[in-house]
Amino acid sequence: MARDGRPNQILTRRTALTTGAAGALAALAGPALGAAPELELDGKLVQSGFAIGRTTPRAHVYVDGKPIDQASAEGLFVVGFDRDAPSQVTIRVVAKGGEVSRVLDIAKTAYDIQRIDGLPQDQVTPTDPALLARIHAEALRKAVGFASDVDSDNFRNGFIMPVKATRQSSRFGGQRILNGVPMTPHYGADLAAPIGTPVVAPAPGVVSFAETGLHYEGGLIMIDHGQGLISLYLHLSKVLVSKGDMVNRGQLIGEVGMEGRATGPHLCWRLKWHGRNLDPTLLVGARAPQL
Ligand SMILES: [Zn+2]
Repeated sequence: MARDGRPNQILTRRTALTTGAAGALAALAGPALGAAPELELDGKLVQSGFAIGRTTPRAHVYVDGKPIDQASAEGLFVVGFDRDAPSQVTIRVVAKGGEVSRVLDIAKTAYDIQRIDGLPQDQVTPTDPALLARIHAEALRKAVGFASDVDSDNFRNGFIMPVKATRQSSRFGGQRILNGVPMTPHYGADLAAPIGTPVVAPAPGVVSFAETGLHYEGGLIMIDHGQGLISLYLHLSKVLVSKGDMVNRGQLIGEVGMEGRATGPHLCWRLKWHGRNLDPTLLVGARAPQL
């Protein structure tokens, strides 16, 4: 992607150099004087995609005017685009010496419509008070996992696939109609594989949630990769890590199952970024911009 802000910055430095002794002294003081931070961006600029940025370490990152996070100690950050992201997203980076903004054009993604019939009704519109209480308690525990915010940039080398899948049985973002009832879109990539197939961490991270027996998800693991990026693994028959564990890329974390709301054995792989739902498969093979 093209660099930004450079011509203006050079102009600023030249102006400083021609304003006599004071200007020359200021110029010697280094690039902090009025220098906009560097900003390199790479990624998949589509709805449900992402950008990985490299800028001044610990610079403040804003997306569409909203403060998001500080870049990592290496200056890396990630920005996720929602399933229905608008056609333009503005990223602004503010460091000590100045700031730089970039407007990104986000391409539209076409989503499938998925009809699934024959599900037990308590998996679609539960009404039993005891079950509703259980689902609520599970949601509160999951919220703690989503709120994890580890200070790292473990997404820097992108993802590998977490499972050797036979096929992708449903793509991210499909509009779901379950037993005839329109639901929220499917925020996962479903990877079909037999029960017991090993599931590995696609990138290093810290386990922020690990439980079995959840009503909708069955066995569920969340991994915090830093900068608000949290990946999820649903319907697992076995969970082989615990909350707080540090996992490495390729490390065994669980086994494929069909627990919870699932009609066949598969891994439902999901990715969250500050509450937004991203397509995790888009991060496979991605890399942070190099120095
Ligand atoms: Zn799924």
